[in-house]
Amino acid sequence: MVIIGGGGHGLATAFYLASEHGVRNIAVIEKGGIGGGNVGRNTTIVRSNYMLDQTIPFYEASLKMWEKLSHSLNYNVMFSSRGVLNLAHTPAQIDAFVRRSNSMLLNGVHAEILDRTAVARMVPALDVSKNARFPVLGAFYQARGGTARHDAVAWGYARAADRLGVDILENCEVTGFLREGDRITGVETKRGIIRAGKTAVAVAGSTSQVMALAGVDGLPIESHVLQAFVTEGLKPVLDTVVTWGAGHLYISQSDKGGLVFGGDLDKYNSYAQRGNLPVVEDVAANTLAMFPSFARLRILRAWGGLMDMSMDGQPIITKGPLDGLYLNCGWCYEGFKATPASGFTFAWTIAKDEPHPLNAPYRLDRFRRGYQLDEKGRGPYPGQH
Ligand SMILES: Cc1cc2nc3c(=O)[nH]c(=O)nc-3n(C[C@H](O)[C@H](O)[C@H](O)COP(=O)(O)OP(=O)(O)OC[C@H]3O[C@@H](n4cnc5c(N)ncnc54)[C@H](O)[C@@H]3O)c2cc1C
Repeated sequence: MVIIGGGGHGLATAFYLASEHGVRNIAVIEKGGIGGGNVGRNTTIVRSNYMLDQTIPFYEASLKMWEKLSHSLNYNVMFSSRGVLNLAHTPAQIDAFVRRSNSMLLNGVHAEILDRTAVARMVPALDVSKNARFPVLGAFYQARGGTARHDAVAWGYARAADRLGVDILENCEVTGFLREGDRITGVETKRGIIRAGKTAVAVAGSTSQVMALAGVDGLPIESHVLQAFVTEGLKPVLDTVVTWGAGHLYISQSDKGGLVFGGDLDKYNSYAQRGNLPVVEDVAANTLAMFPSFARLRILRAWGGLMDMSMDGQPIITKGPLDGLYLNCGWCYEGFKATPASGFTFAWTIAKDEPHPLNAPYRLDRFRRGYQLDEKGRGPYPGQH
């Protein structure tokens, strides 16, 4: 089997194919170095606070795997369940969060609604005054959510897969596919051809480009850049993940002390792993609206990653669309937290030629059948998910 893409999902898929299904003859083919893509570029937030009956079980299964991942991989991925707090600024937003909490509770996943006093106690640096630019009314909280060390996840899966006999080929870009009729029978790479009974694609933001090499276009995804930022290190000031309800911002403090944060996509399509200044300004302004005392901090680094935004905001984990080919993409903002469940269910799909119950709703044909999974009700606008 060949897996294209040495990101979190490709490496996790290889690990579960080897560990769960006994497949040993696997090559993971990576254009650059492992961890150089989004798996090493994200803001590391892990949670399962979704709303639909199709999405909650998938992300909750993933969260349960995160809770044991360091043990499963024998590698410390530094998972920290420090909680994820979503701020609410209007009564309507509280109502929407209550609805989401109830949906989670009905699916057996704990969630809490906090009032403003509890939020102030939990996050002392946050401006909860009535004069704040966006006064805080309360919050929606998942205590089991948190963060993990992103590059450790890439290395943990890579080392564990390698120990089970998986070959990881770096600096080996896939440049084409081998075909017999309509069946994919392997790949062409910059370093030669590799034949395979099954070929899986897990290249995140490069999906449209790689699938075009197989003659597949018109997939329901678009690529956009998402930027992230980290400040200089400071003493512990924020021990939970905070997301802002009046716009798009999420922030946490890394174990090294830097504040790690991000916001919206650059809204036009791009395959460049770098973003633009308007979003930088917007994210910085939003941060200060919430945490005025962070104004004197210096940003140490900024970077961009290529996001595979799907039309309904949910991923595609599917057999096909050609014989011998399997596709994993469309992760939007959600792919890091999904890494364990994505790898587990994609490995299942490849090994058994049928979806696992957890990824059955994520088949590509949902767009043909009209079974989109639009959590936020935003419609077919990938940049909005
Ligand atoms: C700034 C930012 C913040 C984010 N924050 C979060 C977050 O807080 N929580 C969360 O859950 N998700 C987050 N995400 C999303 C998450 O990082 C991605 O959805 C997820 O990492 C994508 O899967 P991956 O790890 O397999 O991708 P990648 O690591 O991008 O792996 C894909 C790999 O495919 C390789 N590739 C591409 N083309 C070829 C080719 N032709 N041949 C061989 N290899 C190829 C690439 O080099 C790359 O290494 C964020 C993303 C970004 C950019």
